[in-house]
Amino acid sequence: MIKSFIEGIINIYSNNPKLLLETIILIILCVLIKIYYPKFRGFMGEFWVKLELRELPKDKYIVLNDIMIKDEKGTHQIDHLVLSRFGIFVIEMKNYYGLIKGKEIDNKWCQYLGKNKSYFVNPIHQNYGHIKSLSNLLKLDDKYFISVICFSNQAKLDVKSNNIVTQLDYLKNEILKYKEFLVDNDIKELAKIIIQNNIEDKALRKQHIKNVHIKINHDKELENNMICPKCGNGLVERNGKHGKFIGCSNFPKCRYIKK
Ligand SMILES: [Zn+2]
Repeated sequence: MIKSFIEGIINIYSNNPKLLLETIILIILCVLIKIYYPKFRGFMGEFWVKLELRELPKDKYIVLNDIMIKDEKGTHQIDHLVLSRFGIFVIEMKNYYGLIKGKEIDNKWCQYLGKNKSYFVNPIHQNYGHIKSLSNLLKLDDKYFISVICFSNQAKLDVKSNNIVTQLDYLKNEILKYKEFLVDNDIKELAKIIIQNNIEDKALRKQHIKNVHIKINHDKELENNMICPKCGNGLVERNGKHGKFIGCSNFPKCRYIKK
């Protein structure tokens, strides 16, 4: 039975070499899509944001994409920046889908995909680091900066925060809600400083991604040794509302929780 099936297939392809070539190309394409899909999704996410931000009135808003700047703490990669007299919007794009749960105060947020659960660093905290570095670079108080976390439209958000946590479809409107003058500086000058300090060197950018991975692994190692990656105090087992968990012994000063 199987033998005759295979023979049949061989027959079809030997009579039609063009079909064989097409099949091989199709298989290669499928493999490539499988490998590069996450990268492709990320790329498309950035693309949609750029398109959305391009609709902001050009005389009032300057949009900068994919900026990398350096300070004494290391490099910061900023997905999108919108400079305006109404504020400097620092946008962190999260191309996640599924249910996203988190609070402003949490170290980590959770992504639920069906029964699967995975944690990621609270993007508000991440973005706060970006804002600090920009505030140092531009010598502007951080009150002029507005943090925006933007998820893809496919995500379902269950997030409590005073900062903007939104989705692509609402991104532009969230920015346009700010109508009062906040920044006195010439935004063209500010944009110039950022562009001058933007790291464009490919090798340096690669090193940044490497450093991020090293930091994640380092934090995991500390956690395994019951050391809080945030403040360096010990981690201890605690009893919470939802059962046992491992948290920082320096609570409530440090709210780090191992997940
Ligand atoms: Zn701690």
